[in-house]
Amino acid sequence: MFYANIRCKIITRNKVGRRFKSVITTDYKLSSKILPKETSVFSLVQPSGTMHLGNYLGALSCWGDLCRIKQHETQDLLFGLADLHAITVPQPQGKEFMKQKYDTLAYLIAFGVDPAKCKLYMQSDVREHAELAWYLSTITNISSLSRMTQWKAKSAGEKNKATDFSNSSSSLGLFSYPVLQAADVLIFKSEYVPVGEDQVQHLELTREIAEKFNKQFNCDVFKIPKVLLTPTKKIYNLKNSEKKMSKSDPRPGAVLYLSESNEDIRKKIKKATTDSITDKAFRFDPKERPGISNFINILAGIEKKSINEVEVDLENLRSHSDFKQYVGDKLIDWIEEPREKYLELSSNPDYLIQVALEGKIHAQKKAQETLRQVREVMGFSNF
Ligand code: AMP
Repeated sequence: MFYANIRCKIITRNKVGRRFKSVITTDYKLSSKILPKETSVFSLVQPSGTMHLGNYLGALSCWGDLCRIKQHETQDLLFGLADLHAITVPQPQGKEFMKQKYDTLAYLIAFGVDPAKCKLYMQSDVREHAELAWYLSTITNISSLSRMTQWKAKSAGEKNKATDFSNSSSSLGLFSYPVLQAADVLIFKSEYVPVGEDQVQHLELTREIAEKFNKQFNCDVFKIPKVLLTPTKKIYNLKNSEKKMSKSDPRPGAVLYLSESNEDIRKKIKKATTDSITDKAFRFDPKERPGISNFINILAGIEKKSINEVEVDLENLRSHSDFKQYVGDKLIDWIEEPREKYLELSSNPDYLIQVALEGKIHAQKKAQETLRQVREVMGFSNF
């Protein structure tokens, strides 16, 4: 429902009055037709501990697919680690944080994001992000920020939550997070932003900020980005299929991490909440059978099959324990190769540093050029 509303709202018109979609949903198998010959794609993930299956299926698998289908050098793919975003909640410090970030970088590459096809960088290595975020914060309304669902969720532990700040102990950074996110996307003039569904609202705000800036300064410095969603845009919690899978969920067994051992994968799947319907085949029916449907969507995502194809594969399974055994087998099979690659990469820090350095050089060059244009239209010198 929430998604349907957003979709309707952000369908807009282009300059010649034709309607175009600002949210594009791709297929399980990404086709090369999705990428124009000349384009720019950008997205980040927070390096805040190990990534989970939701991060993989909502974002990383799409990044990997985009690398796979890239055919032209003019298709600029830029991905990386949102370490400036990660520090809006407590993180380890110094060398420990650095290690955590390189570890996440190793996971990205191991799970298919190919540095030969894209650039990978760390957000804090490109200081222009923070500068642009300040400029954009001066044209962003506090009321828009206080409506953000993620802010409401993250500040929910507090009395009077999102709107009464008088006794709030949440940081200013947590509140203004979407402004930095807008700066991230806009500084690279990104056309496509592959993210999970939870980020659609922030991207809608990014579009509003870009349009407002261009109008206010009578320019077209910022490109208006589109969101790229996969069918696995929202992977649900294994213990509560109404909630998304999230790193911040404290319940044991709710989140399936990419670092999980085979034994733990089996255990978590076995204990996952499904249903007690025993007289029907295992079919995708998110309303009646949310737990089962979540697993079917996960299978479709990791195997890059349609829901129909997965349902056919499941036809001969009768019991819930057979179903869970099957899901466990598939996940364990799928994770074996990236897991080995991760171990190999994490023992090669020099390679990871080289990847991050090349990414930084590429990202910074693009960011500096946009910032030069921004400063010029705002009336700041560029000498
Ligand atoms: P984060 O590091 O939490 O900001 O998330 C990184 C990416 O993973 C973003 O594109 C999110 O939209 C995506 N993501 C996070 N959780 C989920 C989920 N449960 N299902 C699908 N995508 C998700």
